[in-house]
Amino acid sequence: VAIRTDITQRKADAISLQQYAQQLAEKNKELETIVYTVSHDLRSPLVNIQGFGKRLVRACEMLQTGLGTAGSGQAAPIPSVKEALESTIPQSLRFINAGVAKMEALLAGLLRYSRLGRESLAIERLDMNALLAETLAAMKFQLDSVKAGVRTEPLPECLGDRGQVSQVLSNLLDNALKYRRPDFGLRIVVRGRKENGAAIYSVEDNGIGIVQEHQGKIFEIFHRLNPEGTPGEGLGLTIAQRTLERQRGKIWVESDGARGSTFYVSLPADQPPTESGP
Ligand code: ADP
Repeated sequence: VAIRTDITQRKADAISLQQYAQQLAEKNKELETIVYTVSHDLRSPLVNIQGFGKRLVRACEMLQTGLGTAGSGQAAPIPSVKEALESTIPQSLRFINAGVAKMEALLAGLLRYSRLGRESLAIERLDMNALLAETLAAMKFQLDSVKAGVRTEPLPECLGDRGQVSQVLSNLLDNALKYRRPDFGLRIVVRGRKENGAAIYSVEDNGIGIVQEHQGKIFEIFHRLNPEGTPGEGLGLTIAQRTLERQRGKIWVESDGARGSTFYVSLPADQPPTESGP
């Protein structure tokens, strides 16, 4: 009797676990739809604000020209009107436009992120040496212009979606370029190895590094450690993490915070064992 109760309990546990997993997947989908709808629908009022902002800039310029060319017989504009037209209004409009542009970039980022879950994956065996060579060739101009030294070691193959893996590689190389130290020549080393059925690749740079307490944060959406001076939205690593997870891969970083960073990417090297196997 005791054995039967035990098995019944285990079966019940397995069923409720399955139900929780299903509920979680549904909630995730719901959230994704909300993010998609919000980021999509908020863009049109923004376009409106942008358009009318431009009209106001033009109206302001017209008023300035009108006042500037007024006949000498006319009274000079009141100083406070002149001040508003020449400085306060154009400056406020510039701030509004900058705010709108930033918000548009954030919404475009959110939209890109929420679309990832819907994109279909084409998993194939990837020749990572060829993929890296292509990525480096596409970035040759930027790498040459800072005289970057890039060393590549032979890389093992892996299973992944060509477009998405190539995007991760170029994002890591692009970050090595962006976060280089101004006082050092940039050196990048790309390595790879196989370990327990996974292919692990690393991109090492001698840039500004990332202190330990920020290493988890950089994978969060829109999180940037050095927002001044370098372009970006703090989305690249978040997207890399998400796309890799969908391909049964991972991404992480190691850095002592002073002598550069090494980003690691792991992807399956072999087909997963099939459940219907012997
Ligand atoms: P972005 O580069 O647009 O800010 P990412 O998601 O690619 O977005 O990177 C997030 C943050 O992680 C960056 O803003 C930067 O602070 C930090 N980071 C990424 N790569 C490196 C690197 N190679 N060296 C130092 N810091 C880095």
